[in-house]
Amino acid sequence: MTEHLDVLIVGAGLSGIGAAHHLQSALPDRTYAILEARDTIGGTWDLFRYPGVRSDSDMHTLGYRFRPWTQARAIADGPAILDYIRATAAEAGIDRHIRFGHRTVRAEWSSAQARWTVEAVHRGETVRLTARFLHLCTGYYRYDAGYTPSLPGIERFGGTVVHPQHWPQDLDYDGKNVVVIGSGATAVTVVPALAGRAAHVTMVQRSPTYTMTLPAEDPIATRLRRVLGVRRAYPIVRWKNITIATLLYQLSRRRPHLVRALLRRAAVRQLPPGYPVDTHFRPRYQPWDQRLCFVPDGDLFAAIRQGQASVQTGRIAEFTETGLRLESGAELEADIVVTATGLRLLALGGITLAVDGRPVALPETMAYKGMMLSGVPNLAFTVGYTNASWTLKADLVSEYVVRLLRYLDRHDLDWCVPANDDPTVTERPLLDFQAGYVLRSIDDFPRAGSRSPWRLGMSYAHDLLKLRHGAIDDGALRFSRRSVAREADPRPA
Ligand SMILES: Cc1cc2nc3c(=O)[nH]c(=O)nc-3n(C[C@H](O)[C@H](O)[C@H](O)COP(=O)(O)OP(=O)(O)OC[C@H]3O[C@@H](n4cnc5c(N)ncnc54)[C@H](O)[C@@H]3O)c2cc1C
Repeated sequence: MTEHLDVLIVGAGLSGIGAAHHLQSALPDRTYAILEARDTIGGTWDLFRYPGVRSDSDMHTLGYRFRPWTQARAIADGPAILDYIRATAAEAGIDRHIRFGHRTVRAEWSSAQARWTVEAVHRGETVRLTARFLHLCTGYYRYDAGYTPSLPGIERFGGTVVHPQHWPQDLDYDGKNVVVIGSGATAVTVVPALAGRAAHVTMVQRSPTYTMTLPAEDPIATRLRRVLGVRRAYPIVRWKNITIATLLYQLSRRRPHLVRALLRRAAVRQLPPGYPVDTHFRPRYQPWDQRLCFVPDGDLFAAIRQGQASVQTGRIAEFTETGLRLESGAELEADIVVTATGLRLLALGGITLAVDGRPVALPETMAYKGMMLSGVPNLAFTVGYTNASWTLKADLVSEYVVRLLRYLDRHDLDWCVPANDDPTVTERPLLDFQAGYVLRSIDDFPRAGSRSPWRLGMSYAHDLLKLRHGAIDDGALRFSRRSVAREADPRPA
């Protein structure tokens, strides 16, 4: 017999464990399981193992609302974040609900049965489960391969080429010349982490990224914890950081020239006298058109000052047997090349969806509140913010799912489905972000709309009001019972 659950969560990363925690705390009588493709908890924070791997937002907001971050370091390293996720799962008994090694491949909704039939591949066999509600916490990128652009002549290169997504744990970089290709958060993390032990690390970037130095340890948080205790200090520090991040983002959008000037001045102060700061640290775009890279305690700048690392800005002409040559003519010797060139985005874990026998084409759906899909009943997905910590949105989505399940029960309803029948709502990209990795794949993703509740909110305060306190029955969400399924077709026109 097929196993039936009230809620099926897909993914046991930061979001999936958080979703399970919210669900079982608020609705302890509901049955649920988590299907996880890998054999372990943690998602991103287990997969990425490159030296220095760390958060690039503060852990008081990347941590869950319900579980204080207690460590001194607010910009935390990967293993500490992984421990935090694992401890959350273990202490709440969530780990007992996880089915490891279950790659979810397909989910079909039946209105007649008011349930999803979900197919997962486990050790080569197809496993089927049914569930009333499906919550996809599958992250946003492919796990099997990172993105590598075409690198001319790379096959000629005699050294080692490494992608940070698959870092070999036995890679020996002591005394080696390392070239890191990229300018995003990963490159900015890995360069200072290798510097000191490597002979020299060169960061090769096509164009610069905005960087901002932050203290790795938040002195206000440390003081508040000492005075108020962990539980009382946590929400205060969280709100402090949300406010600062929001103000910085708003200032960047409204007064980009001011923020550009401030960031430049901070970089100049941390770089050696006469350093060509405009060549290597002055991007062509405005602050927050792409994610800002945070530099904890200025470690990147320190490595440059100490001569352990350097930056080259320009296009790669070709690889040679012993390194690479830039179009500028500069030659770089390399034993190891690290391709910190990004992720390959993947929508909803690559799961094929169907509703009453009709396949769902994701680009034809519109995201409702950035967390449900038009025409797709009883399904939520978690995709966090690009301008703030992921978990701020993930917590709100999980809280909203709980509210929705309660609403359905209270009104004796079987399902809800977002439907957009307002012709004045125009389409927008789901991730309105100019980074290359977003632009490469955004066409495979659901769309967002020009107006609430279809507009993708990037404001935590706005989402907090809408998702935690807003009316569930807002006109765009339709509700139904099995008995009236034939009369009310949930799919949008
Ligand atoms: C190196 C790196 C650093 C980052 N740093 C930050 C940061 O500092 N701040 C921030 O806000 N964000 C950061 N992010 C974004 C980050 O991904 C999120 O913060 C967060 O970890 C995402 O959690 P998640 O659980 O939603 O997704 P993931 O961590 O990607 O976990 C998804 C889980 O779902 C599983 N899964 C996927 N598809 C399927 C399927 N079909 N069937 C079964 N299981 C499936 C995966 O195996 C995985 O375990 C970072 C991302 C990367 C790559």
